[in-house]
Amino acid sequence: MGVRSLTLKDKLNRPLKDIRISVTDRCNFRCFFCMPPDKDIQFLDRKELLTYEEIAKLVKILSQLGVRKVRITGGEPLMRAHLENLIALLSDIEGIKDIALTTNGYKLAQKVKDLKEAGLKRITVSLITLRQERFVSMIGRNVDLEEIIEGIEEAKEVGLEPVKINTVVVKGVNDDEIIDIAEFCRERGLVLRFIEFMDVGTLNGWNMEKVVSAEEILNILSRKYPVEELPKKDESETSLRFKFKDINLEFGIIASVTKPFCRGCTRLRLSADGKFYTCLFSSVGHDVKSLLRGGASEEDIKAFVENLWLNREDRYSELRTQEGVKNLPKVEMFRVGG
Ligand code: SAM
Ligand code: SF4
Ligand code: SF4
Repeated sequence: MGVRSLTLKDKLNRPLKDIRISVTDRCNFRCFFCMPPDKDIQFLDRKELLTYEEIAKLVKILSQLGVRKVRITGGEPLMRAHLENLIALLSDIEGIKDIALTTNGYKLAQKVKDLKEAGLKRITVSLITLRQERFVSMIGRNVDLEEIIEGIEEAKEVGLEPVKINTVVVKGVNDDEIIDIAEFCRERGLVLRFIEFMDVGTLNGWNMEKVVSAEEILNILSRKYPVEELPKKDESETSLRFKFKDINLEFGIIASVTKPFCRGCTRLRLSADGKFYTCLFSSVGHDVKSLLRGGASEEDIKAFVENLWLNREDRYSELRTQEGVKNLPKVEMFRVGG
């Protein structure tokens, strides 16, 4: 039997197409823009985490509601043991066309072959600097940057091309490396995505002065390279897309702060402890783990998600400066999955 094609639309007429799954809230890095090292963070107990079987069960239900893409994230997803087992379970779900992973790249070189063989289709590795000392200071841990670069090379080697690179740009911290990182990606055929520093969570001391806007990033790149804007692939594309014309290589800028893309946001998020979030900046999660563990049927869970999506009207990035919005409580990014 084929997958029922049901288009579930929220209050702003956005279909449900993607799920981002945080498989753990833990991380071996302490990036100052996500999980600052000086903050005392309470992590989930193991028994609070959804099991791989529970996640797969939810994804199967979501696939019947129109979800086609899955992105596995965290925290650091590779900290969860045998992540390839989850990928294998997800690969078997009819209707799921794309399984992607976002990782900080630590120990990736040793793991990426198994991930690919289990059915991983795409990978994004975060790379915020090419300078060893700065790397240690930005991630709050003594990790060899070469190790991350090896992981990127190995991902290419096993055929996960094009490998994507995420680079959060923070003013006065790594904005002097925009060209160096672009050069690194150009030499290796990596698809770079610069990300504007976002006001996710409550711990990272964000303010507008620390944001390097998409326009500034593009100006820096355009002065050095011939750059052309590309059309959106589809409505739910979150990145502004461009290409380096001289080598015909795509890159992008995720401008959540200066050019919000809420109108095309087709994503649901699932936290490691089994709560659905309808926005990265949500104040509340919707507990599906209790349903799962309480013996709810597939139909019950489907109705739960339908109700959630039909009532969704999030568009935080469009409203972030408004009184009454900017001071609302927000979930931390490492809990809900970036
Ligand atoms: N640990 C993995 C990693 O770092 O790639 C996956 C989870 S991380 C939360 C997902 C992405 O969010 C990373 O590319 C990270 O750089 C980005 N990110 C984290 N905090 C951010 C912030 N305040 N603004 C913009 N992007 C951020
Ligand atoms: Fe960890 Fe990723 Fe957050 Fe950095 S951005 S602290 S690597 S979860
Ligand atoms: Fe989607 Fe919320 Fe981000 Fe807007 S702010 S794009 S609704 S996750």
